[in-house]
Amino acid sequence: MDHPRCQISCQPVEGTKMPGEMDKPLLSHRLVESDGSLADATSEVPKVGILGSGDFARSLATRLVGSGFSVIVGSRNPKRMAGLFPSAVQVTVQEEAVGPAEVIFVAVYREHYSSLCVLSDQLAGKILVDVSNPTEQEHLQHHQSNAEYLASLFPACTVVKALNVISAWTLQSGQRDRNRQVPICSDHPEAKHKVSSMVHTMGFMPMDMGSLISAREVEAMPLRLLPNWKVPTLLALGLFVFFYAYNFIRDVLNPYVLENKSKFYKLPMSVMNTTLPCVAYVLLSLVYLPGVLAAALQLKRGTKYSRFPDWLDHWLQHRKQIGLLSFFCASLHAVYSFCLPLRRAHRYDLINMAVKQVLTNKSNLWNEEEVWRMEIYLSLGILALGMLSLLAVTSLPSIANLLNWREFSFVQSNLGFVALLLSTLHTLTYGWTRAFEESRYKFYLPPTFTLTLLVPCVVIVTKGLFLLPCLSRRLSKIRRGWEKDGALHLTLPKNHSLAQKTSHV
Ligand code: NAP
Repeated sequence: MDHPRCQISCQPVEGTKMPGEMDKPLLSHRLVESDGSLADATSEVPKVGILGSGDFARSLATRLVGSGFSVIVGSRNPKRMAGLFPSAVQVTVQEEAVGPAEVIFVAVYREHYSSLCVLSDQLAGKILVDVSNPTEQEHLQHHQSNAEYLASLFPACTVVKALNVISAWTLQSGQRDRNRQVPICSDHPEAKHKVSSMVHTMGFMPMDMGSLISAREVEAMPLRLLPNWKVPTLLALGLFVFFYAYNFIRDVLNPYVLENKSKFYKLPMSVMNTTLPCVAYVLLSLVYLPGVLAAALQLKRGTKYSRFPDWLDHWLQHRKQIGLLSFFCASLHAVYSFCLPLRRAHRYDLINMAVKQVLTNKSNLWNEEEVWRMEIYLSLGILALGMLSLLAVTSLPSIANLLNWREFSFVQSNLGFVALLLSTLHTLTYGWTRAFEESRYKFYLPPTFTLTLLVPCVVIVTKGLFLLPCLSRRLSKIRRGWEKDGALHLTLPKNHSLAQKTSHV
């Protein structure tokens, strides 16, 4: 709510507590006038009503008071509930609470909306803010959103949907850095503007979602459980199961069947540690494969204005999540590798090797080639992980917002590709000549690292081909809007953002 005469901020006068300190009523405010002078404005503190005295109502009242509003709560049992609110909040019966306030937050559940109908006359002409969230079942069951239902019960009121995505906990203890977006919708722009302004004053970022019909979408938001992570997580799990089973067959089952040796102790650490880098590496290549496919498609079609197939479009949209899962697996691989020498099995192996060495009378087992291989292998792994960390950090919205489009694209596209190259070299130095040794083909299965190299090598080779002048020139022409004769014009998919159009390679 815009405060009349309030230009910059509300400052408590001497002796009154700062917003957020609730043990004394916020009775008087000094407002900064346009001429810079301070004016007393006791009577002008905007009055806001809340119906309901539950968890949400309490947190909302606390936040509103801390943001400079005067709050009046309407409860069916004000005497019992008053003690639970900050003393600056007036808790009274519902009929009294709705009188002086122009904006009233309805902090009760949908099933109790009808019990408020007795207040219809007092509520006429006021703004009702619906903060409710349906359960998943209610959301599917009702054809109307809670906000639309409230509007149908109170046709003489203006209903605004807001704040349902903010939990009681966030309201009370959350930051005021405007990082949290609050979707707001209503059929009345003026009421929407008023509530947006209040939400802004409370330290959130209001987001206009249009008319009240969008309330269904807004109410579905808190019901979502990481929708963008479902497919990437399933993909990572699928790869994990595949590589874990493959490594199990090669490293555990093979010695058990052929030599009757029990290597099942390898399952928790060793097999995990050979599986995780495979998943991380393949996932990283899957971040860059759709860009390569998109570029190939654009080259073939000779235009950037025709839509990609849906599966490619979805793949492009999930690259960030796939990349972060790759980083997660790579980090786990680093921790596992770090802990490998701590295992009892490793110590026994070392001692057994030393004993064998003594028995065979060998004084020096130093192998120059192996030493170099391990040094390079470890160094490349550390560099690749460092690069992946950089990509992960820059994908955080707070960091990404500090970068312009060129910087973001440089980090995610170019440095990301360097991370893929480093990971490939890391894998190759791990494999060394093992791909050519017959003994490494257990049950005729090639070493795991050879499998992991397939997709990344396709990506790297294709990217290399795109650097050829004939292809790169054509591609950059297409990206600038050039079209070959007869290129088919198709509409871009609705959710196809500019960012996706321009960042395919
Ligand atoms: P709650 O703790 O159960 O409070 C509900 C309040 O509704 C009661 O305290 C009661 O206050 C009031 N009420 C009014 N008429 C009623 C009736 N006929 N029967 C029963 N209660 C009645 O629930 P809440 O967590 O505060 O949630 C309130 C609303 O906020 C819900 O719509 C919820 O979806 C929404 N919300 C909650 C959160 C959260 O984190 N809790 C987050 C977002 C949205 P009186 O007894 O004083 O009348």
